[in-house]
Amino acid sequence: KHVVVGGGTGYIGSCICTALHNLNVRTTVISRMPGPKRITWQELETNGLPKDTTAVINVAGLNILDFKQRWSPGFKQNVFNSRVKTTQELAKAVACSDAKAFVTISGVAYYPPDGKDYTENDKCEKYDFLSGLCHDWEAAAQLPKDSARQVTIRSGVVLGRTGGMIQQTFLPFFFGVGGPLGSGTQYMPWIHIKDLINLFIHALKNENVTGVYNGVAPELITNAEFTKTFASSLSRPAFIPLPAFVLKALLNEERAKIMLEGQKVHPKRVLESGFKYEYPTIKEACDQFGVLFYKE
Ligand code: NDP
Repeated sequence: KHVVVGGGTGYIGSCICTALHNLNVRTTVISRMPGPKRITWQELETNGLPKDTTAVINVAGLNILDFKQRWSPGFKQNVFNSRVKTTQELAKAVACSDAKAFVTISGVAYYPPDGKDYTENDKCEKYDFLSGLCHDWEAAAQLPKDSARQVTIRSGVVLGRTGGMIQQTFLPFFFGVGGPLGSGTQYMPWIHIKDLINLFIHALKNENVTGVYNGVAPELITNAEFTKTFASSLSRPAFIPLPAFVLKALLNEERAKIMLEGQKVHPKRVLESGFKYEYPTIKEACDQFGVLFYKE
């Protein structure tokens, strides 16, 4: 078996590669930087996929929440291209290969944050930049008929000790100055990194898995509930909120929405497909994050 992983150098991508290596599966990463066991996006465009590729994953994407980057039209274009163009390039390459499965990531911003319950069976319209991004990202992953099996994982906030949101907020919470974002009443669709990785493996392994799956835990929580549970796993208070106006000033209103708004998303098709969560509740997930030095 040989799986090609676009964005395999990132947090999610490198965890996927480690999990595949543990299953004795060979991986090749696609990165902007050349290196051993890697190809670049240019090489993909010129030469296509390695001949013996059996499956392809894409989890590439420029970090939207990079506080150092201004939310300018240029940055937005890079955010878009790093997801949609890479997925498009890979879809083209998969269609010309013998790969059997193509599994890509997208986000729960596909659904509106309007308090209604959403499952994979709900079709939604684009309503802002981020929802438009998710729509185009997913459209880019579509393959011609009789090509490989295609799966999209619409992920919530990925929680893991060594990357993403937990890593970014660990120190403020550790020093007791953490708190809810804005009002804290917004839903926070989330998934533990281990479950997200297992879901990718589940999608690669099971031929009956096809189409869209919500990469979220079955337990629905708000940002305030997350804050309370995370802080208590560190035995710290978390009373200092980050006001919405500060986040909007720092990040721009459009981008601050990622943190200030949340969708009520259920993993209906994930559960129906027989997937078993290791961390179905936020308590189980956070209990693991109270450790200062933890290896995923
Ligand atoms: P990381 O920032 O850790 O990794 C990003 C990856 O994308 C790297 O492998 C990097 O590869 C690649 N990349 C960055 N910029 C570009 C670019 N301009 N063109 C092509 N590739 C690029 O992110 P995560 O692992 O946390 O997230 C991966 C994907 O999952 C992203 O698309 C993200 O939107 C999505 N996602 C993440 C969630 C989360 O909570 N973490 C939630 C929902 C979705 P290299 O530098 O080697 O080229």
